[in-house]
Amino acid sequence: MNVLLTGGCGYIGSHVAVVLMSAGHEAVLVDNLSNSHQTIVDKVAEIVGRSPAFYQGDVGEVAFVRNIIRRHRIDAVIHLAGFKSVGESVQQPLMYYQNNVCGALGLLQAMEAESISNIVFSSSATIYGDPQYLPVNEAHPKHVINAYGRSKLHIEDMLRDICISRPSLGAVCLRYFNPVGAHQSGLIGDHPRGIPNNLMPYVVQVACGEREFLNVFGADYPTPDGTGVRDYIHVMDLAEGHMAALKYLSSNSGWHAFNLGTGRGYSVLEMIRAFERQSGRTVPYRLVARREGDVACSYADVQAATFELNWKATRSLEDMCSSSWLFQSRLSTE
Ligand code: NAD
Ligand code: UDP
Repeated sequence: MNVLLTGGCGYIGSHVAVVLMSAGHEAVLVDNLSNSHQTIVDKVAEIVGRSPAFYQGDVGEVAFVRNIIRRHRIDAVIHLAGFKSVGESVQQPLMYYQNNVCGALGLLQAMEAESISNIVFSSSATIYGDPQYLPVNEAHPKHVINAYGRSKLHIEDMLRDICISRPSLGAVCLRYFNPVGAHQSGLIGDHPRGIPNNLMPYVVQVACGEREFLNVFGADYPTPDGTGVRDYIHVMDLAEGHMAALKYLSSNSGWHAFNLGTGRGYSVLEMIRAFERQSGRTVPYRLVARREGDVACSYADVQAATFELNWKATRSLEDMCSSSWLFQSRLSTE
């Protein structure tokens, strides 16, 4: 299969490229490099033994995307391109609507013009808001409180509408919980520009001495140790979930949404301890006030993905921590 991967040079996209190509498919990466580097293309090639096609450009540019679809006889699209910082989206909502929503709109127009029927979309557990019950299943009410979350929900709704208008279309929205970890080679991983927003890249930077200590946001949540609980999922398990979604689309049309998580939650302090065990480093931390907009506890009900996609996360918390550390160690020596 020839698969167009938008945002293919990013953290998750690069792992999806590796999984697809290792399974014998062709990955065509489109990325404007707003949050990534072209060197990722070579790293993917080093892992899989052949190079993916790469085009630098904006996913919302219809003519550009149409050309790529035609040139590479694309069969399906995995749409990962987008901005992903909640805080930034609160400061600059229009930038988020422009890039995420208008970007998806242009992509969908290009797909329609070229009669491409299958799309897998990177959605997020953030659309559920503060969980009303746990574990969170796909039917949980949606409650978005920032422009990032709203952009994800808008795109899910756009996909729902076009699936109604074109019954042959198939769209799978994958609602990621908390992706962490790296490919076992340590060649690709999460390498955010600037100060990391997410827990794991921050922990890694503290462990290697790039930052002095970690701020633990909130120790007074109604959780066993008072710190926030999340469903961390290994990025390679997540990447394999995309393969399962493509397979599902080969025999199912219409709009579908699946949670991708492990079904189990870990607290911030449990994550720190697990990381310390795997890296042999200490991670100094300070307990500080809660971060605005954070929820106490969130983890996925993964029944739908287990039974309908025939997919399950298999990698352990130890794998998540040791691969993150390997990636950082290789980066530090580059
Ligand atoms: P990332 O920033 O590493 O990757 C996104 C890639 O998209 C980047 O390489 C960036 O340069 C590119 N991009 C952004 N806008 C673009 C545009 N208009 N045209 C072309 N390329 C563009 O992020 P990631 O962690 O790999 O996330 C991938 C997707 O998964 C995003 O849509 C994100 O919202 C979603 N997601 C991520 C997480 C997470 O914790 N990482 C959780 C839930 C959902
Ligand atoms: N967190 C933290 N310090 C940080 C970053 C995150 O204590 O520097 C906590 C955060 O409050 C949450 C968990 O780690 O409980 C996961 O946060 P992250 O931003 O990685 O993911 P999300 O908020 O999207 O679930």
